[in-house]
Amino acid sequence: MELNFDKMNGLVPAIIQDNSTRTVLMLGFMNQEAYQKTIETGKVTFFSRTRNQLWTKGETSGHYLDVVSISADCDQDTLLIKVNPHGPVCHTGADTCWNEKNEAEDIMFLKELQDFIDKRHEEMPEKSYTTSLFRSGVNKMAQKVGEEAVETVIEACNGTDERLIYEGADLIYHLIVLLTSKGYRIEDLARELRERHSENWKKH
Ligand code: AMP
Ligand code: ZN
Ligand code: ZN
Ligand code: ZN
Repeated sequence: MELNFDKMNGLVPAIIQDNSTRTVLMLGFMNQEAYQKTIETGKVTFFSRTRNQLWTKGETSGHYLDVVSISADCDQDTLLIKVNPHGPVCHTGADTCWNEKNEAEDIMFLKELQDFIDKRHEEMPEKSYTTSLFRSGVNKMAQKVGEEAVETVIEACNGTDERLIYEGADLIYHLIVLLTSKGYRIEDLARELRERHSENWKKH
């Protein structure tokens, strides 16, 4: 493959994509030598602009990138390399260099969880913890909500952030189960909060 290394001081950018998930993992630069080494070894080697030397990704972390395919773009100045990664790709320990928190997806998961709990309520499969909560009755489910609320309070006042998140998640899960047993959904709480919010907004 003829590559144009002249446009950028002897370098071409190489986009690294996970071959199975198609996620873009990272971007690095290759000079002619790094490109040759990548082809010969089957492991991605970049040219490190900060260290001014060849850098085989994974040489210290062990998280090598095994090359599956290499292709050049329309004018041969950028590479797309599909790989199988041996581990997290980013030096921060994240799977990709673009691992931003996706808060929109996280909040949408509450709806997925609600759907899942509804399904449990309809089907009541044996050996499911959710089924056993539904069978235990409203008082028991309400009591569980109380317990998880207390655990959340304890972690907020005297615990760690990690434990607070854990117990807060327990609280939300048990609250959804309780609501579901009464024919409601987490969206009903969200609607109530939304309505209050818009009323307050009008007053100000
Ligand atoms: P590694 O190539 O994974 O053994 O990592 C060696 C060094 O390269 C790390 O200590 C980082 O300084 C740097 N490094 C590793 N991965 C990345 C990355 N995805 N983006 C930028 N720098 C990286
Ligand atoms: Zn191009
Ligand atoms: Zn990174
Ligand atoms: Zn708990």
